Amino acid sequence: MATTAQILDGTAVSRRIFEHVSQRAANFIATQGRSACLATVLIGDDPASHTYVRMKQRRARQLGLESRRVQLPAATTTDEAVAAVRALSEDDTVDGILVQHPAPAQVDELAVFEAIAPEKDVDGVTMHSFAAMGLSANGFHSCTPEGIIRLLDAYDVPVAGKRVCVVGRSAILGKPVGLLLLAKDATVTFCHSRTTDLAARVGEADIVVAAVGRPELVRGAWIKPGAVVVDAGYNPGNVGDVETAAAAARASYITPVPGGVGPMTIAVLMEQTVSAAENRVRQTSPQS
Ligand code: NAP
Repeated sequence: MATTAQILDGTAVSRRIFEHVSQRAANFIATQGRSACLATVLIGDDPASHTYVRMKQRRARQLGLESRRVQLPAATTTDEAVAAVRALSEDDTVDGILVQHPAPAQVDELAVFEAIAPEKDVDGVTMHSFAAMGLSANGFHSCTPEGIIRLLDAYDVPVAGKRVCVVGRSAILGKPVGLLLLAKDATVTFCHSRTTDLAARVGEADIVVAAVGRPELVRGAWIKPGAVVVDAGYNPGNVGDVETAAAAARASYITPVPGGVGPMTIAVLMEQTVSAAENRVRQTSPQS
């Protein structure tokens, strides 16, 4: 008999995170006399990147954070981008730095990420942050993977001992979400473009995370009945990486697109920005 999955409502869960961030942002202003500040670096003219940056800036301002935008031309070199990010790392009035991905092809994105001071890496993209996450040490997590974990936690989805299939192995999404789930005692399989028999790997999983960037690549019929489906994909036309309606007929829980993983990503970014600001104050003030 067909069942319909319960929605993992990222809009509702992110709203609760935003409320808490907004209280902490107001408290920061009251005690420090300035707003916590997120600097966003955008290189080039990619329309989707412009939209994402605008959304993040708008949300930051709504929550009482300062949003500073650094726009660099499409022809920016790696050295120029590194210099711009280094200046923000050294600027005492900046608490968090986000370099919007993807940078134009001539820019060595990893070199630019590495210019972000670890204590300001609120998007979790530096090698320091990745290693800290892998070792379960203190540090900021990549925002989309952390948002997925927070969404599963909000619905008390059991992870320990479960079989997880992550489709995608990018440094910002597939790999870190697999490591975070491993740290919660899941048994994790990573799939990618060279995986043979993807349908079988997905079909074995209790939790499927789709992070590919191919519309509806993960077919509904592949989903094990009762599995939890997290669709991180965001393709033109609001289409995810999972065939949603068919998957929802078999899954126990599923994320909608939009309104699932997307708002959780922004919520984690905002939360990590206010945490970065609070941490920096704590590190520079004398012990009471
Ligand atoms: P990416 O860097 O392009 O990585 C895509 C991954 O998918 C790669 O590991 C690739 O394998 C794998 N892949 C490609 N074709 C495949 C196939 N036919 N079968 C199995 N695996 C395949 O993408 P990304 O940055 O991780 O983003 C993935 C998706 O998430 C995109 O839709 C993106 O828009 C979305 N996203 C959403 C948010 C959000 O806030 N909601 C944030 C970030 C990304 P190889 O490694 O072998 O090439």
